[in-house]
Amino acid sequence: IAAPAPAPGGTRSTVERDGPTRRPRFRVDDLRLALDRGELMLAYQPFVDAATGAVTGFEALLRWHHAALGPVSPADFVPVAERHGLIGAMGTWVLDTACRQAATWRGDCRVSVNVSPVQLRQPGLFDRVASALEASGLPPHRLELELTESVMVSDVAAAINCIRRIRALGVNVALDDFGTGYSSLGYLQRFVFDRLKIDRSFIQGIDESQANWVLVRAMHDIARGLGMAVTAEGVETEAAVALLRGIGCDELQGFLFSRPVDAAAVRRLLADPTWDRGSARAATACGP
Ligand code: C2E
Ligand code: MG
Ligand code: MG
Ligand code: MG
Repeated sequence: IAAPAPAPGGTRSTVERDGPTRRPRFRVDDLRLALDRGELMLAYQPFVDAATGAVTGFEALLRWHHAALGPVSPADFVPVAERHGLIGAMGTWVLDTACRQAATWRGDCRVSVNVSPVQLRQPGLFDRVASALEASGLPPHRLELELTESVMVSDVAAAINCIRRIRALGVNVALDDFGTGYSSLGYLQRFVFDRLKIDRSFIQGIDESQANWVLVRAMHDIARGLGMAVTAEGVETEAAVALLRGIGCDELQGFLFSRPVDAAAVRRLLADPTWDRGSARAATACGP
């Protein structure tokens, strides 16, 4: 797809400031041209069934390989894309690519796609989802959208309506990074989600912090009480697996099982009936 033309007056020489972790600077124009230059790709990180360890799906995670700087983290460039009007085109590319690749996967695994609150706020998200499904032939139940809580959603009624129409297509909608936003419980009151993803900041300390463990159990109970499935993100230890299994958490995701890998590694993983954590870890990791 064509990158949008630079804004009149030009952001040509705009250079983004260092992020909090002092990553290399990139120019907004580089990001604007990244799609056309083929510098963007999707990495996929599996979800596993907490009870059986079977792969249930993959989260699509955007990767940018900058020609001079090398890999740039989505945590750094997605907010820039949001601020500079680039997230619409980028998000459409992610949806189309994830659906097209997932349609070639063996079995019934889902693909989860992150959707920016800016995309949710703009008109046309429903149409983009519908056309990504149609163009790829991916059955709607195999697509899930991950939304984050955000104070940026100004028109709540429009957002609720958009989510309702997308769910009516048969697509699932998940609330990502639960617990880190400003209005977690308010969101659950107003929006209907199929799944809650508990943020990794709670999961990572559950075997050491009593507070984290209490909060994770409470979030799990709330989700279950509201009829939602629960995914724990950022699972890195066997101790966390045991605790989460113990409370009946549905699904786990984290470096313990696999880092994000490229599309070819997904196909190899799905073709291998003897897949286990070891072979996924051995697959070529793709970014963070
Ligand atoms: P997210 O959606 O919460 O994605 C999970 C992030 O946690 C990923 O980082 C993943 O690599 C990382 N992660 C997974 N398991 C573990 C673990 O066990 N330990 C640790 N330390 N980290 C783990 P990544 O790929 O750098 O993405 C960061 C964020 O960027 C995402 O958070 C999401 O908010 C955003 N993002 C990524 N791709 C897209 C996209 O296509 N569209 C939009 N709008 N945002 C995206
Ligand atoms: Mg996500
Ligand atoms: Mg997440
Ligand atoms: Mg997260």
